[in-house]
Amino acid sequence: MLRVATENLFNKNFKFTSLINNIHYYSTQTDVPSEADVVIIGGGSLGCNTLYQLSKKGVKAVLLERNKITSGTTWHTGGLVWRLRPSDVDIQLLSATTEQLLKLEEETGLNPGYVKNGGLFISRTKERLREYKRLHTIGHYFGIESHIITSSEAAKIHPLLNPKNFSAALYSPSDGCLDPSMLCTALIKGSTTNGGKLIEHCPVTNILTDSSTGFKKVVGVETSLGVIKTKCIVNAAGAWSRYISQMVGLDIPLIPMKHAYVITESIPEAKGTPNIRDHDASVYYRTQGNTLYIGGYENNPEIIKEVEKDFAFGLYELDYNVFGVHLEKARDLTPILNNIGIKSNICGPESFTPDHKPILGEDPRLGGFYYACGLNSAGMMFGPGIAEQLAYWILNGRPKLPMYNSDIRRFTPDMRSNRAWIIETSHESYAKNYSIVFPHDQPLAGRNLKIDVFHEVFVAHGAVMEQAQGWERPGFYIKDSTAPVRSYDWYGSYDHVDNPDKRYENQLEGDYTFNFSKHHDLIGAEALAARTNAALFNLSYFCKMYLTGPDAQKAAEWLFTARTDRDPEKIMYTCTLNKDGGTEGDVTVVGLSQGLGTLVGPILKGKGYYIVAGGASGYHTVCHLKKEIQKKNLKAVITDVTDKLGVLSIQGPKSREILQSITEAPITDEKLPFGMSDIIHINGHICRVLRMSFIGELGYELHIPYASCIPIYNQLEQAGRGFDMQFAGYRAMYSLSCEKGYHLWNSDLRSDDNPVEANLSKICRKDGSYLGKDQVDKLKSEGVSKLRAFFTLNSKIPLWGNETIWRDDQIVGFLRRGDYGYFLKCSIGIGYIKHPKNKIITSESIKSGQYEIEVMGKRYPANLHLESPFDPNGQRIQGHYENQFQEQVHFED
Ligand SMILES: Cc1cc2nc3c(=O)[nH]c(=O)nc-3n(C[C@H](O)[C@H](O)[C@H](O)COP(=O)(O)OP(=O)(O)OC[C@H]3O[C@@H](n4cnc5c(N)ncnc54)[C@H](O)[C@@H]3O)c2cc1C
Repeated sequence: MLRVATENLFNKNFKFTSLINNIHYYSTQTDVPSEADVVIIGGGSLGCNTLYQLSKKGVKAVLLERNKITSGTTWHTGGLVWRLRPSDVDIQLLSATTEQLLKLEEETGLNPGYVKNGGLFISRTKERLREYKRLHTIGHYFGIESHIITSSEAAKIHPLLNPKNFSAALYSPSDGCLDPSMLCTALIKGSTTNGGKLIEHCPVTNILTDSSTGFKKVVGVETSLGVIKTKCIVNAAGAWSRYISQMVGLDIPLIPMKHAYVITESIPEAKGTPNIRDHDASVYYRTQGNTLYIGGYENNPEIIKEVEKDFAFGLYELDYNVFGVHLEKARDLTPILNNIGIKSNICGPESFTPDHKPILGEDPRLGGFYYACGLNSAGMMFGPGIAEQLAYWILNGRPKLPMYNSDIRRFTPDMRSNRAWIIETSHESYAKNYSIVFPHDQPLAGRNLKIDVFHEVFVAHGAVMEQAQGWERPGFYIKDSTAPVRSYDWYGSYDHVDNPDKRYENQLEGDYTFNFSKHHDLIGAEALAARTNAALFNLSYFCKMYLTGPDAQKAAEWLFTARTDRDPEKIMYTCTLNKDGGTEGDVTVVGLSQGLGTLVGPILKGKGYYIVAGGASGYHTVCHLKKEIQKKNLKAVITDVTDKLGVLSIQGPKSREILQSITEAPITDEKLPFGMSDIIHINGHICRVLRMSFIGELGYELHIPYASCIPIYNQLEQAGRGFDMQFAGYRAMYSLSCEKGYHLWNSDLRSDDNPVEANLSKICRKDGSYLGKDQVDKLKSEGVSKLRAFFTLNSKIPLWGNETIWRDDQIVGFLRRGDYGYFLKCSIGIGYIKHPKNKIITSESIKSGQYEIEVMGKRYPANLHLESPFDPNGQRIQGHYENQFQEQVHFED
């Protein structure tokens, strides 16, 4: 889709004022070393933290800062530190930050300027309070104290608040604030004590690379003081990071915007009060002495087209036409502000990203080039936690925590180079920073970036689309009307006219709840159609690739945990791991027989495989497989054919009859048993059929060359009408797959989960060797301290993930994933049960005890199942539907 960034987004007045001239030098030297293990570019929060973490781990690291440390964004930060966010990984990063802040003084003798003044999250609506109750609940698992309190109680903690203007609050006593310059000074001292080097006034002017081995790698940096040879560079240049990437011809999805806070005149009552986050009003406060810092996120932030290259200790002039809205809201919450003046303001550049998550990790297209940027106005609080993970990433090839949501590999190359898309999506992420994080919220910006061949057909049938990794996919279908995604209207900002067509937004509103969605029954009908009759899913955005070349078989053996040396056309479900046994992806692999040179049947020289991975993380899977092939020096090639093949999946008891009615190829158990693939013809068009199911039913996936997609769809749709086949979207599919107990990568199967912990030992072979096998074998023989489990609730309340799991009055885990099982007629949760003392647990030992799931602070009895009780013997995928009724009755008993 053509997307053009309009000029009126960009503020024309870019003049900044440099405010501080007499900052001390912290540099350890004024010349550059000839080589270093790691060179970090940029001496802000991220650079200083990364130098500290690497130096402590014995790495010879050098930090190069163009000016003086903190001179970019860090020096003027608000410095607030929160503990609770709606993501278990974020919470763990923030906990690491707090721990490190507390240790730093002891270690360096320098106070990092950390004050634990607590934080209040203001709630003005019922739904907001539910969101806070969810934070309060997940906080229990991570040992973070918090309290849901009334507005009057909140006003006792922070006497400047007007309790009449909000309804309740979440109080988090361990929140705090930090001083950026004190923190960075302590970090540099901690680094240099461990051999780290800081060189200020040393801009990096170029990056040296080498491609002679066939894969581009970094080999050094050029600076104003000379060249440093290195195999590893960290781009921590904040709002200037894009300039650094451009030195190696790469783009990153990051845009600088102005972000600001104002500083009030003295308010003696403000002293010692906690931080405030009034999400509904989109404002935050920090208390500094007798003053309040007041900041916020507006709908019309000023986007900076090119941030000045010589910017140091600078600020922009604050535009009160933009910022004024925050003052109005703040006066409403804190009436004293009506009589208090604004002493000064801080308005500086900060980098923002399309999904409001940082950009971290190694660039898949340039070996040794790491990112630590795009911090979305949270780089102080995340700095220490993120730098710790980055240090593991650099040293071990992967972080300890599952960092996919911040990994550069969540963006495909076409997303990274599309500036108009990046600006749109980053704008919306900024404007919605304080919006409630609903389980099924969808962006309005950056839509229709990648659409598959069926897009228009399904939208015309009422598909309400979702986006994942830039692709549009049907979420669910509405009856007798349509709700296409319209072009982005920037929420009416920057002179854009509000889009009058609200059909899509109206549908989204049905999901703005932590209760069951307004679309619950519609999605239920789609799910039940797949269980009882037939449903058609469009899975075209799934990532599809070929693994070929002389070493294809060796590569498959190394990359996949399951046996891949099976008969041609056999479909294998398998994990692909990292060297520590963490799951980097789960895919289906088909061993290919010799083809005729078509898109679905390539001509092979030796073995070849067709691999299908989840679409939302498809690029990550491709990068992981390519990198491991390259590391092993194997002569094998991965060819991504995602945008060349459409996928229609027909599922349910009637699927076989429907498919058989449009092809002469025999769709029988003998010719096409479960777990097998074949090339078939439908009305003269060729396609690959895979007899498999993501939902636990008799079902078939048709992988079709784009040119044949619509003709085959037309046949299928026409045939389906005779069987009352329904269209079904991803919401139904996720519910069905959850009900069946299947895994979902980056949810209940992540890079911090070993397959043995995830109950996937059965797809980890005993013989041969594969990446991560040592750790799998170790856990198989020694046992695990956490184990995936499946829960059902008797009470009809929704589960979304992040609810805590209690066993006999002790917290033993939290749900990674929640959904509603329409066939089982109950809410389902999937999570990992951990031994409270990290001791070994077994599937037997977790069976005893009384389980409860805590939802928004209230505990509900839960039934534990090691595997889903839905069709436990897998009769339905075999097409055996005769005994299903009895099994269901048994479960309900
Ligand atoms: C008004 C405001 C309020 C904020 N409030 C909070 C808050 O309350 N809590 C929070 O956690 N975060 C907050 N933030 C965000 C936080 O301050 C930033 O995320 C963080 O400081 C970014 O750190 P950084 O290291 O990524 O970037 P920077 O601090 O900008 O560091 C990048 C450095 O790279 C250097 N550099 C650039 N080019 C080169 C080159 N070629 N060679 C060498 N060096 C180079 C620059 O000089 C700069 O010093 C706020 C930000 C703003 C603007």
